[in-house]
Amino acid sequence: MSGLLRIRWAIAPEIAPRPLITCNRCGGLRPYRSSGKFRVNANGKRIDAWLIYRCVDCDNSWNFAIFERRNRRDIEPALLAALEGNDPALARRHAFDAAVLRSHVGRIEEFPDVAVERHVLERRPEHATVLDLRLTLEMPVPLRLDRLLAGELGVSRSRLQAWEERRRLFVELDGAKALRRPPRDGMAIRIDLSDEPDRDTIVAAAGA
Ligand SMILES: [Zn+2]
Repeated sequence: MSGLLRIRWAIAPEIAPRPLITCNRCGGLRPYRSSGKFRVNANGKRIDAWLIYRCVDCDNSWNFAIFERRNRRDIEPALLAALEGNDPALARRHAFDAAVLRSHVGRIEEFPDVAVERHVLERRPEHATVLDLRLTLEMPVPLRLDRLLAGELGVSRSRLQAWEERRRLFVELDGAKALRRPPRDGMAIRIDLSDEPDRDTIVAAAGA
């Protein structure tokens, strides 16, 4: 008679961060976006690899260094092949690495848009009253946990806060401050909805 519904949410950012670069063609600060293409340059035994970005307004290019002047011997052949073949997964991984991008250019634009794939982990109980959400993230997202939950469950952030204060919402490991921080890979959230008149709607939103 357990009313526990276990659901995994696989969360992925949808829009890569954009570095803000002084564009010498536009003559001012402009966002640049990844072209998804690498440029690999060999100078004797030394190899440079960049991910090419383009100004959103004028298409001017900017090279984001993946590595520079690295000895060919120190580069795995599979990595070199992926760079030379513009491997989309590799380009995506670098384009979404906000921390490295920020350390290169100082200022970046970030976007909170995420895609959430829902997987019900066990057979759905007839009357679910408790949600057990397991989050998996392939990379960090610039979005607070309460905004994510509010958007995906269709409830207000103040209601989430009230649940948290009444111990109806519990974030495993991270405790009370977790709602105001970005979600993390492996995070588990339990929400007891047994007193909520609209729980069926919330449960449906969680697992739909
Ligand atoms: Zn430009």
